[in-house]
Amino acid sequence: MVLCSAGPQAASGGVTVAERFSLLHAAIDQELECVGRPPGSVTIVGVAKFQPVESVREAIDAGLRDVAHNYLQEGRRGFERLPPVRKHFIGRVQSNKARAIATLFDVVQSVDRLETGLSLARAASALDRELSVLIQVDAARARRHGCSPEEACDLAARLRNETSLRVDGIMAIAPPRDPAAAAKTFATAAKTFALVGGSTLSIGMSGDWREAVRAGSTMVRIGAALFGERDRR
Ligand SMILES: *Cc1c(COP(=O)(O)O)cnc(C)c1O
Repeated sequence: MVLCSAGPQAASGGVTVAERFSLLHAAIDQELECVGRPPGSVTIVGVAKFQPVESVREAIDAGLRDVAHNYLQEGRRGFERLPPVRKHFIGRVQSNKARAIATLFDVVQSVDRLETGLSLARAASALDRELSVLIQVDAARARRHGCSPEEACDLAARLRNETSLRVDGIMAIAPPRDPAAAAKTFATAAKTFALVGGSTLSIGMSGDWREAVRAGSTMVRIGAALFGERDRR
């Protein structure tokens, strides 16, 4: 029998990073079973911003294969001290940093404007590489980051003309500490994903990954629940 009502703390109860990674992995698989999806169908991305590189290494040793950064400089410093992983960029893309971002990262999850996407396309083309990108959608209509759900299809279609980009899906962020608002945001994200197409629906963070998995997430981005609370000093 599967318990489908485990508390949100179930995944963060471990003491070490390795324990938290394996508990999170198991808790996500259990949630997947509850909604009739195959185990392992959600990729865990470790969000390394403001985290000690040792913690990230411990998670990689425990099986983490995807690591994300919000800042280019921090990513540069972090990745050179780590074993090879798939590198995700989840921060603001400034056009003048496009070349550096396309050089360091494998996936850019935060493309929300045509201009930014085209800068990345030119950079990837000059580097002779194919860059995976996700369209960041403002599914919560918070008007901070992301294109509107209505704009997402058009943006994806325009960027799919660029041979150096692979538009793999969408990314969205829900309002914090509000499970009902998160569920609503993720429903909008899932609907938008169905229209945009691709393999990746990147929704769910430490506080709302359960709601995200229920809504169809294929990728969760986890910081605090994996590495511990961030040190912002
Ligand atoms: C910081 C961050 C996360 C991870 O947040 P946690 O609450 O620590 O899991 C995920 N996605 C984005 C875009 C972020 O900036």
